[in-house]
Amino acid sequence: MLNRRTLLTTTASLASLGLLRSAAAERVASTGRNTAYDLIIVGAGTAGLPAAIFASRRGGRVLLLDAAPVIGGTLHFSTGQMSAAGTRLQRSLGIDDSADAHFDDVMRISQGSANPEIVRLAVDQAGPTLDWLMEAGLEPMPGHPVMGLGHEFYSQRRYYWGANGGRSILEVLARQLEAERANGRIDLLLDSPVTALLRSDAGAIEGVRAMRGGTEQVHRGRQVLLASGGYASNPAMWEELDGYRQHIDAAYPFSRGDGLRLARSVGGYLRGRSMYLTSFGAILADESSPAALRAGFETWPDRRAPWEIYVNARGERFVREDEPSVHQRELALLPQPEQRFWIVFDERMLAAAPPGIKDWTREDIREAAAAQSVFYTADSLAALARRAGIDAQGLEYTVRRYNEGVASGRDPWGRKHLPAQIAQGPYYAIRMQGFAITSNVGIAVDARLRVIDIRGEPIPGLHAAGEALGHSQTSGKAYVGGMSVTPALSFGRLLGQTLPLGQQAGA
Ligand SMILES: Cc1cc2nc3c(=O)[nH]c(=O)nc-3n(C[C@H](O)[C@H](O)[C@H](O)COP(=O)(O)OP(=O)(O)OC[C@H]3O[C@@H](n4cnc5c(N)ncnc54)[C@H](O)[C@@H]3O)c2cc1C
Repeated sequence: MLNRRTLLTTTASLASLGLLRSAAAERVASTGRNTAYDLIIVGAGTAGLPAAIFASRRGGRVLLLDAAPVIGGTLHFSTGQMSAAGTRLQRSLGIDDSADAHFDDVMRISQGSANPEIVRLAVDQAGPTLDWLMEAGLEPMPGHPVMGLGHEFYSQRRYYWGANGGRSILEVLARQLEAERANGRIDLLLDSPVTALLRSDAGAIEGVRAMRGGTEQVHRGRQVLLASGGYASNPAMWEELDGYRQHIDAAYPFSRGDGLRLARSVGGYLRGRSMYLTSFGAILADESSPAALRAGFETWPDRRAPWEIYVNARGERFVREDEPSVHQRELALLPQPEQRFWIVFDERMLAAAPPGIKDWTREDIREAAAAQSVFYTADSLAALARRAGIDAQGLEYTVRRYNEGVASGRDPWGRKHLPAQIAQGPYYAIRMQGFAITSNVGIAVDARLRVIDIRGEPIPGLHAAGEALGHSQTSGKAYVGGMSVTPALSFGRLLGQTLPLGQQAGA
């Protein structure tokens, strides 16, 4: 977990690499408070950094504000997996791909639930964005692009990431930001949360209020870009907007939904409710909520055919454990109580099955189970159920039916891989928690990323990009590989390239 302490360490390491000036070297607007910037960017993360870089390249005067003590936002945490079609790398490898094919795949995987207008913009911009990053020094992993990992696969090899995930991207962006800051056109203020938007009598956005060192500062700008990320570190907002509890503490600590609040304060509205989807789960550090991530369990049947069964709190199975589609497994988990399930097995299975947790031995699992938190063990199924919080009768019934299916070769859920019965204690259960780390609900924008009001009218001078738009806009009620990081980078870049600067801005 990246906490404030590690963020400060990161600041120091970026500074030592010459990638970031120290706070003491930051220059506050030399033009003074009353002279407007061309662009004020709220958030120096995945979307905000490219916006600043490209607006500065066109000669724009930019103020980049971040609530955190370091630039980079979620790139510090993200696996940084990107999807892009029609790239130079693909062409050099003879991969025939296009933005149209990327679009079709996103709509297929999301079962038509993503926003086609926003997806169109994202896939059209993704190829040039990846080309730019690679030209600037990003090195995808050997063998990339690939068709997928962790989510439903694309129909073509268009999925890439660097050796250090999101940090590989951040290193490139930080170098480019430094080059632009050397030209004197970008002012960077860290530890400066934006608290309000300034609006003219005519309704146009003309600046922001931000806190710094306990003092409120006013910054004037012709355009404001909300690039402040999502709300995955704000459990109250998560529950309010999505209707589910935030179970995992794994998002960037400054992803608090500030941009959504700011947009609403000037007439913007939110969309993407009811688009929540859980991942197929992981093992958390303890039984609290939200809790840190402890480990994964290999539930992809093509990587490790399941020996165990999966049951919900009622002790019922809810999906065929060897269901090949991760999307179908995720949809099956969503309606289960608290999106939680237990992986149940016995001692014979533990001894015979391939290990399910990377780098864990069988003895590690026995030791964890002795602590009876998240991992459990008991000599009977009923005692196991009581310790784990599963309905005992339900579990006993389910195991009986499962064992009958193993004996007859006909599983009630149609499971094909039936290597052994669960029949001999001690018995084990591992609690798996479904969770999401990207925010689904976000600020409504038009096809030019202008923040719109409920009538569809743009709010003059206000744009939004990145997770502040809601992950569901580019991925729907599904997980489509790379469709958060790449759109955030692409939309920031596009706005930096196209937003009116100087006197044009008022036009
Ligand atoms: C663990 C993890 C893994 C992920 N892996 C992938 C992946 O492989 N592929 C993928 O597509 N997506 C992935 N995602 C999602 C993706 O990384 C994010 O959606 C994306 O990086 C968000 O970019 P952003 O610019 O919107 O926000 P951020 O990059 O978070 O930037 C927002 C910035 O705004 C700042 N800020 C917030 N509030 C304020 C305020 N009031 N004033 C000033 N500044 C403020 C924050 O400090 C932050 O620096 C992952 C997410 C997580 C958490």
